[in-house]
Amino acid sequence: MDFNNTQIAFSMKSASDLRNAKFLFTAISNPKLVKIFKALTMAALKIKLPIAWIVKPTLYRQFVGGETLNECAKTVKLLANYNIKSVLDYSAEGGTTEKQVQRAFDETIKSIDYAKGKPSIAYTVFKPTAMAVGTLTECSQKELQKFKERVFALCQRAYDNNVRLLIDAEHFATQHIIDAVTEEAMAKFNKKRAIVFHTLQMYRTDRLEYLKMIYKQSQEMEYIPGIKFVRGAYMDEERKLASELGYDDPINPDKKTTDRMYDAGLEYVMDNIGSFELFSGTHNYQSNVLLAELIDKKGIKRGDERIYFSQLYGMSDNISFNLAAEGYNVCKYVPYAPIRDVLPYLLRRAEENTAMAGQTGRELQLINAEISRRKRRA
Ligand SMILES: Cc1cc2nc3c(=O)[nH]c(=O)nc-3n(C[C@H](O)[C@H](O)[C@H](O)COP(=O)(O)OP(=O)(O)OC[C@H]3O[C@@H](n4cnc5c(N)ncnc54)[C@H](O)[C@@H]3O)c2cc1C
Repeated sequence: MDFNNTQIAFSMKSASDLRNAKFLFTAISNPKLVKIFKALTMAALKIKLPIAWIVKPTLYRQFVGGETLNECAKTVKLLANYNIKSVLDYSAEGGTTEKQVQRAFDETIKSIDYAKGKPSIAYTVFKPTAMAVGTLTECSQKELQKFKERVFALCQRAYDNNVRLLIDAEHFATQHIIDAVTEEAMAKFNKKRAIVFHTLQMYRTDRLEYLKMIYKQSQEMEYIPGIKFVRGAYMDEERKLASELGYDDPINPDKKTTDRMYDAGLEYVMDNIGSFELFSGTHNYQSNVLLAELIDKKGIKRGDERIYFSQLYGMSDNISFNLAAEGYNVCKYVPYAPIRDVLPYLLRRAEENTAMAGQTGRELQLINAEISRRKRRA
């Protein structure tokens, strides 16, 4: 697999899109600038200053599909032209009041209905903590029951519409509650095919064993687990919490171990692919190459519907577009929400990219290479 073909990687981007991407990734690579931008944005939000004029043509354009489902239609269509499917991700973040939970629930139902019968939308998705009023770990039994009912109602709708549904993974403290509900939902809705997908964060020390337990359970209960692998997004917070509260750090001791666990997870599922469906959510070169090689080595069709690669919209286009050009199944997580609501998501993307200097450097290098290539051709 050659992920360095920039002509394919940026085939969807106009010259002005590329200039915007270059500007953004340059700005994002400067931690001080990101800090100042974050402070200014939060202050502007607090006093309700209009900020759309600065965010929409820059950050929003690079990382977000639109304000509403209908606004995302153009992005979905554009991606589909390059054989890339979408996962429309309602990304409004914030508190979890009764009203906000209802809104998140309604919006997810809408997205599941919207995806029905649309081959360009490969999966739907939701963040489980958005379905609970208050903090999941502090919920009363009654509220926990309501949480479960909401999750099951979403799964039921996905099942009725024959649409796959990813359940995102979150913080360690809440994940055992999400695990239990997801296992039950998979056992109920995944009898013939995987409709409900569980997310496993492979930066956790226990997830490979958990994967094996899921396999065993699925054999006994006769269902097909949908497994979404990610490395995990909350490492620093998890380490800090574990040390503050005095329990064992749930995260692997180093990056190498997480990489090894992720790849071991991929190999395990691929060795048993007759009994699984797989979604690999990563921007890591090696893991993407490994999965592509495993598919080919095992003689599985590259377009086999049981196996998908996925990256976030606006990031690692070189991986997504080159894999899709080679005939593998690829989908992008496309966030959508009104500008004000999606800002925390955008700020996290900016901070994440700043923290991963290697990732931002790679993005910039590829963007520069493509700008130079187009200049030479002009
Ligand atoms: C499509 C998609 C869906 C996603 N959904 C979720 C989700 O539901 N829940 C979620 O938590 N995250 C999710 N993420 C984010 C994901 O968990 C990672 O944070 C992000 O993708 C970076 O990891 P990577 O594999 O792409 O890249 P890499 O750069 O190879 O890996 C970086 C990751 O490695 C791990 N790591 C880094 N340093 C260390 C260390 N010292 N010790 C141990 N581990 C280390 C961390 O997890 C870090 O994020 C998703 C990502 C994608 C692309």
